[in-house]
Order: sequence, then structure tokens, then C-alpha cells
Amino acid sequence: MPRSPAIMSSKPNSKGRRGRRRTKLLTLRNRKPPGGGYNIKELEAAEAEFLALPMVWNSFVVNLPEEDPESPDGYRWKKTRFQRGDDVLLNSNFDDGPDMWVGRIVQIRTNTEKTEMLVQVRWYFSRNDTAELHIRSFDRSTRSPYERIVSDYHDFLSPRTLQAVTHVQEYDETVLDPPQFGPTDLFVRSTLHFWRRKVSNGPSPIEGNAMHTARGESAAPISPFGEDTCRCHEPYNPYPELRTSSSSVFRSTLSLSLSLSVGPNSIMHFCPRLGCRKWYHNSCLVTMGHTDTVSPPSTRGLRLLAVDPYSEVPFATFAYFSEQESAEDMALASDKLDISDALEMFGRSPLILAHLPPSLLSIAQSPIARCSGAPHGWAIGNVADVALARRFVYTAIEHSGRPEAPAPTTSNTTTTNTTTAGGFPQLLQLADDLEAFAWLDTEDGVAQLEALCAGLEGFDLLASVYTPYWERRWEGFVEMQALLGGPAFVCPECGSAI
Ligand SMILES: [Zn+2]
Ligand SMILES: [Zn+2]
Repeated sequence: MPRSPAIMSSKPNSKGRRGRRRTKLLTLRNRKPPGGGYNIKELEAAEAEFLALPMVWNSFVVNLPEEDPESPDGYRWKKTRFQRGDDVLLNSNFDDGPDMWVGRIVQIRTNTEKTEMLVQVRWYFSRNDTAELHIRSFDRSTRSPYERIVSDYHDFLSPRTLQAVTHVQEYDETVLDPPQFGPTDLFVRSTLHFWRRKVSNGPSPIEGNAMHTARGESAAPISPFGEDTCRCHEPYNPYPELRTSSSSVFRSTLSLSLSLSVGPNSIMHFCPRLGCRKWYHNSCLVTMGHTDTVSPPSTRGLRLLAVDPYSEVPFATFAYFSEQESAEDMALASDKLDISDALEMFGRSPLILAHLPPSLLSIAQSPIARCSGAPHGWAIGNVADVALARRFVYTAIEHSGRPEAPAPTTSNTTTTNTTTAGGFPQLLQLADDLEAFAWLDTEDGVAQLEALCAGLEGFDLLASVYTPYWERRWEGFVEMQALLGGPAFVCPECGSAI
């Protein structure tokens, strides 16, 4: 196999943290970049060799050394299962740091005797890999240290190059429920088109044939990274640095002055309306003049609540407050108009919201914001909480109170059935797990699963009005008033309160 990765001695380094480091680090072509080693001809040869292995597997087990102070050798062996589709950490000189090597298992093959095995891995690039080794003009300031850019570059590796299973979270900035990841969690939101030396928005689903992408046959148009952000297209970096200062320092800085550790472009507001779903920099909104100077402050909360994240039109009950007419009617009102007042105005009983805690109602009337580098999840923002809180309010109004519980759904219990094939030299075991999901292949199975999900969705809305959760979240909102206060912004696209 051309330039195959060296297989290291399997004794771990006792100094290695978390027991993952080994005496001899694997050198994938001596720190050629992940994916920097092959030219197209070599890739072709490597892929041909891989495809010549006839047996395809869904998973395998490797004995990996794990630190164990109680053992005389300082380590013990632990069985680790790797499956097709898993994100994995690979051995490198960068273990345990932000530039550690990460890939995804695309396919697993062996020869019929199971004496030879190769794993097709799709690489994730770090910002430093990308800038230093592949695209010289790449601007790494727009990327977080633990951010990864999934590439269309595939490698064919020995299973012993793998270290552990990990998970790279997909961060889609336009969704209402982004994953809550911290500054040292791996995440991905863009694709490196390796052979075209370009980075595009969104993680690409390209899987399978390595040569297909290498030859550029799937050369679809590329939308540049940051294109969907604000009007200025300046990409957002949730975690610019690995912050070592305490969050209280950050918080007081934030409260006192937004100019010290928080740059003018750090805070963004989000329009959740279906069809918009876009983040805007506070500074850009001010510059572009998208502040509401007409509507009275007394109805600001209701105007925010009227922006239905699940629809292209405002939620009907509160739409009135977004209109010119209400601005004139309410011009003289100095007190904040709350939801109960609004419901009474339209002849509805405020009691229909009695089961919702005040903290939830306050969150539903908050703007949606995020702040680069902020602690406690504020770098990702409050979008999930605000969208869910609004949904609770809408559901209560539509059902004139707490909605009815759905009838319990029955479903087949599934049995997982794992068959393990022996015969491979002790280190590796192969398993084909497809049987575990066989029930899903039947139409009946899919229908049951769908029914179960639909039932759970309604149930979720009913059951999770968990007051302590919303109270705790509201405390966080109060602490971060510096993010949520400020001018009454409106969406540059649809004019909604944001
Ligand atoms: Zn902007
Ligand atoms: Zn909008």
C-alpha cells in the first residue's frame, strides 16, 4: 500500500493524558497534512487497493490501551467498537490539543481471510491545517480552535491508527435548535473542497467514492462561507479564543462596557421568522438604520412575541402590535403592556396561560441574541429557549389552555442482535450490525416510528413546562441584559421586531 501509515508499538505512554497517547505516535506521512499526502494518482491506487478487499463490514472492535495506575504496566486493554459513520480521533502529534486529528469512518473492508483490513476515513481539517497546509489565504480568525471543516478528502488507513470515537456536532446557524457546544467541543459548519481549494457553507454530505470528488465530477457551485451572515457577510466565530479568564470577568466587562473584550461585531440578533432565519450584527443594524423609532416601547415584548418562528406570518393574536395602527393607539401608554392585557383586549381570558410560568412568558417576549466568546451557552445564543417558549404560548392560545395529552402510542420493542465474527488476529473483531435495524425496513416499522415521533412531539410540548428550568433560564437572561437590551431592532428583510 503506498504511503500507508506506520503501525506503532501498541504500548501506551504512561504519561499520556486520558491514556490515549502511545509510545510511538503514528505518523501519517510524517505530519503531511491530513489528506496532504496523495496526489490523484496515488489516491487512485490506494482506493483501488481498498476496493479489492471484498468483505464490507459495519463495525469492528479494537483493543486499545487505557491508562490504569493500578496495573503494573500502567495501562490495561479496553475493547473499543468503531462503526461506519462514526467520527473518530486519529493518532497524531497533536493529541489532546485543539489541532488533534479527526475523521469520519466511511467504509470498512477486509480480505476474505480477514487478515488484512482497511478503513476509509474522510478527514476533518482544523483551522490551522487548512491555513498552513492547504489554503494560504484562509482566514483563521473566523474559525474556532475546535471547529472542524469537513473535507471531501478520503484516506485508507489501518484500524490501528484510530484512537477513540468522538462526535463532531453539526452547527447550522439558521436553525431554531442549534446544538449547545462549548469552546472545546468539536463542531462543523462548512466543507473544504480539497481538490478545488475552496471552503463552502454547510457540511457537505459527500460520502463514498473518493476518486469521484478528486476528479471534480461533482463540481457543484460553491456558496462562500459567511454568505448567509448579516448583510456584511462577516462570518461569525462563536469561540475566537480558548478563554482562560473567568466568566465573571467577562460578565462585568460586558455589563460595564461592550468595547473591551467584546468587539463591536460580537453581538448579533436573529430574525427567527420562517423565510428569514438570519443573524445580524448589532453594529450593522445600527449603521443600516434598522431600529424601530415608531412603535412604543410599551408593546415591544408583544411585538417580539408576534414573530412566529414556525411561520412566514406573525402569530395572529399579537400581529396587531406590529401594525401602524397600534403604534398610534399605544403612543400614550407608558406602562408595559403584558400578555394578559393583550389577551383581554381581544376578549380572551388570561387564564388560558395560567399553566405557563412567568419566566417562560418573559423568555417568549425576549429578543434572540448571541455573543462571540460569551460563556454559558451565549456564544450559541438563546434561540432554542425563545423559540420553544413562544411555541408554548401559541399552543396554549390555540387550545385555549393546556393542550390535551395524546393517546399513548404502541410500538414494537426492538431487539438488538449483534453477530460477531471471529478469526481475525485477536486485536480486531468484526461485526455486522445491520440486523439490529432490520425491523425498520418494513413499512410497518417506519409507520410506527413516525407515529411515535408525532406523539412525542405533542407530549414534549405538554410535559416539559418544567417551571424550575424556565426560572433558571430566565436568571441567565437577566444576567445577560447587556446582550438583550439596547435598541429595538427590526429585521432588515421582513421588518419584524428582533
Ligand atoms: Zn454585519
Ligand atoms: Zn425577518
